[in-house]
Amino acid sequence: MTRIGLEVHIQLRTQTKLFCGCPNRFVKDPNTLVCPQCIGLPGSKPRVNRSALQYAWLIGLALNCKIPSMSFFSRKSYFYPDMGKNFQITQYEAPVAHTGRLKLGLKEITIKRIQVEEDPARIVHVGGTIATADYVQVDYNRSGVPLCEIVTDPDFESPREARDFLQKLSSILEYLNVYDPSVEGSMRVDANISLGPTRVEIKNITGFKDVEKALNYEIIRQKHALRRNQKIVRETRGWDADAGVTRSQRTKEDEEDYGYITDSDLTIFTITEEKIKELKNHLPELPDAKVKRYVKELKIKEDLAVSIVSEPDLAEAFEKVIKYVNKELAAKWFAGEIKKTLNYHNLRLRDSKLKTDGIIKLLDMIEKRTITDHTAEMMLREMTIKSLDPEARSDVTTRIYDEHTIENSIKEVIDTNTKAVLDYKSGKNESFNFLVGQVMKKTQGRGDPETIRRLMKKLI
Ligand SMILES: [Zn+2]
Repeated sequence: MTRIGLEVHIQLRTQTKLFCGCPNRFVKDPNTLVCPQCIGLPGSKPRVNRSALQYAWLIGLALNCKIPSMSFFSRKSYFYPDMGKNFQITQYEAPVAHTGRLKLGLKEITIKRIQVEEDPARIVHVGGTIATADYVQVDYNRSGVPLCEIVTDPDFESPREARDFLQKLSSILEYLNVYDPSVEGSMRVDANISLGPTRVEIKNITGFKDVEKALNYEIIRQKHALRRNQKIVRETRGWDADAGVTRSQRTKEDEEDYGYITDSDLTIFTITEEKIKELKNHLPELPDAKVKRYVKELKIKEDLAVSIVSEPDLAEAFEKVIKYVNKELAAKWFAGEIKKTLNYHNLRLRDSKLKTDGIIKLLDMIEKRTITDHTAEMMLREMTIKSLDPEARSDVTTRIYDEHTIENSIKEVIDTNTKAVLDYKSGKNESFNFLVGQVMKKTQGRGDPETIRRLMKKLI
């Protein structure tokens, strides 16, 4: 049986780093946002950024975790140029949250623990990959950025489930406003997978699709090996996204190998019951609750609701729009064409030119049947990438009902498509649809489909 567990690292969007006052943001110039603390100079002392802890507690509450009244940091020792002080400050014995769950379809995924730790520096392999680079550069700007690590039990039975979980988790984190999914590498995943008794870990995968691909590759690799009676080695592998393969990096070390010790520079920190209650009250309405409300109160189909709430921006815009236009129509367009168009341009709603006012006008024109669905789709595509008032170009967008105009187009189509006309007459209904399509084309998609059908039947 395939068993998969995930360790998800999220870069928290705090103003400053976890243990110093350096800004937490990405800049091109390397080693410009650093201080003695985050490059690990001896004698520098860490100070905890409380807002990073607050974010982690919020995540814990959103994932139905238990929040212990106290937690503390430990030092995880290792030697590598990405961590100047040769240990990473992380949590081991006392994480901020544990034992939570997230609903995934009919299943519940157990969240084992949630901990806060510092991100290491960024290693840049110059002139190639880890295997072929001439040399490496170290950019300490990332060193000390607050990470929240979310660890699940090995509850996933397929790579697809793991991907669905990540998508849902990402959406929840976006609602909490604790991370920015548009920042490259703001979510990095380690996945462990076992087909039999031996667990293999795939490190540092970015992107939901790549997690699914890496796991699928690993299943095939392990099945092949087992079929040839080869032993699966307990090891850590890396995902090469370009080649689409995982490669062995090192045999897996045990947690004990890191020699965890409590960080004596940092005190134990506590959280009171009242504070937990207060944070709970501040949780926004999360995707599952939103879906329930949309279905129950707004009478929107569940699959459409799920699609709309996947992005907070989209849900917010939808809720504004339905104050002015028909709810079902809006749901259909938000879950359908609007999402499709944004995906096509790889844009999020807030980064596109599409504004609620424009959407309201457009949907209103569809509802009043002044434009066809086809024209609306074309306009939506334009409105996504440039400012455009949907009402401004009515001369070329208005739906055509005029029978004389439509009849002329039909006559032209009949004259040039004799075969289709004969086919229709001999009983082929698809030919009729083909002919209607041709008339639609002649009217640039603006002809009223019902009028076209009615007149076509009359004229043939
Ligand atoms: Zn610093």
